[in-house]
Amino acid sequence: MTIRGMTPAPGTLTDVEINPYEMMLQQLDMVREYTNIPHGVWKILRQPERALEVSVPVVRDDGEIEMFTGYRVQHNSARGPCKGGIRFHPGVTEDEVKALAGWMTWKCAVANVPYGGGKGGVSVDPSSLTRGELERLTRRYTAMIYPLIGTKKDIPAPDVNTNAEIMNWVVGTADVLRGEANPGIVTGKAIEMGGAAGRKEATGRGVMFVTMGILERLGMEPGATRVAVQGFGNVGSVAAKLIAERGASIVGVSDVSGAYHCPRGFDIEDILRFVSDSPGHLLAGYDAAGVESIPPEDLLTLDVDVLVPAALEAQITAKNAGDVRAKIIVEGANGPTTPEADLILGEHDVVVVPDILANSGGVACSYFEWVQNIQCFPWEEDVTNQRLGKLMVRAFDEVWELSKEREVSLRMAAFILGVERVATAVQMRGIFP
Ligand code: NAD
Repeated sequence: MTIRGMTPAPGTLTDVEINPYEMMLQQLDMVREYTNIPHGVWKILRQPERALEVSVPVVRDDGEIEMFTGYRVQHNSARGPCKGGIRFHPGVTEDEVKALAGWMTWKCAVANVPYGGGKGGVSVDPSSLTRGELERLTRRYTAMIYPLIGTKKDIPAPDVNTNAEIMNWVVGTADVLRGEANPGIVTGKAIEMGGAAGRKEATGRGVMFVTMGILERLGMEPGATRVAVQGFGNVGSVAAKLIAERGASIVGVSDVSGAYHCPRGFDIEDILRFVSDSPGHLLAGYDAAGVESIPPEDLLTLDVDVLVPAALEAQITAKNAGDVRAKIIVEGANGPTTPEADLILGEHDVVVVPDILANSGGVACSYFEWVQNIQCFPWEEDVTNQRLGKLMVRAFDEVWELSKEREVSLRMAAFILGVERVATAVQMRGIFP
């Protein structure tokens, strides 16, 4: 059987230094031949509905004013209010946010939650700010994007370098501006502020569910599986912990401060304790018996069964895809594999569980949080985790079955499923006016 992956036409890709928005559009365009979506609807899907750029002045602790640039993009709201995280990172650009918003549209449709896709971010290195400066940046950014966000309009959540505390500031600011309490305007808040028990771990938990799903489908035993995880933040650390709890050995981990290899398997509790106690919550300086420090780029090409990229986009490229030794890649991060790399991985029979399926546990649980906020009725954590498991297994099964039926890669199947669902909603709504 031939499995058709995302095969770009020769010469259409500029390879490694790909712009994430171009990458998202290339992925979308590759799905076109597998669908009957009318040309006009396709034109709608290729463009975000709204893209807002804002200036974010921040008074530094020494009294100096510094200017930052922020964005909020709503890609498509045909299936419901837009939903997507806020990223604080020096690499944030309008095109990156547009790409991430697009991936959110397809992801929400694959998970079959009633949302469209959105995303936001500020181009800033948050480690260069004091806590007070970070809070002022967050509050001013929230005020600047306030006209776009709302419980039934566009609901932010955490992403790279943002967390529950930052989401608390977003809600606090929005509520003051509005003059009423609206906990459902943001998800990923602290539980005391209306956050869902289990949301913090949900993306990593979802990565674990799909990892177990693909191992089972490929007849591989978790207990005999070696895993490397790139990125040890929210998604990577929780995924590593939960995958290890299912019996697999985590033999490689990395973050922005370094990469570590432990062929016999890390003591995950020990490494989590180390990161939690270290300044900046980094892996730098981790040392234990059998652990060696390796060049960061080697993490992606370790001799493992499963590789979980859980850091940033465009990490597996045409330059290193041929050297990947993992049999399976489970994309915890958004857009970690370029389309060109995807092609090379396909040629090497590497099975890729795509981001819009693999990391959809976060938005699924955000949906549960939003439902609880709207109903003013919090659930027990085990109810959330049980519903999350059910949703992830259903989404995984749907993508797996479609990939078999259409003889396409899992990425192609996930895109077909997501894009067709969105296109159907666009057509049903019609065009205003
Ligand atoms: P985070 O800020 O908690 O963690 C990011 C991690 O990546 C950190 O450990 C950081 O040190 C590491 N990192 C950054 N640059 C790196 C590099 N060059 N090499 C190795 N490691 C590097 O962010 P997160 O929330 O865990 O998000 C990680 C990825 O998962 C992003 O792509 C994000 O969009 C995606 N994602 C997050 C969620 C969520 O709920 N948080 C949901 C879906 C997808």
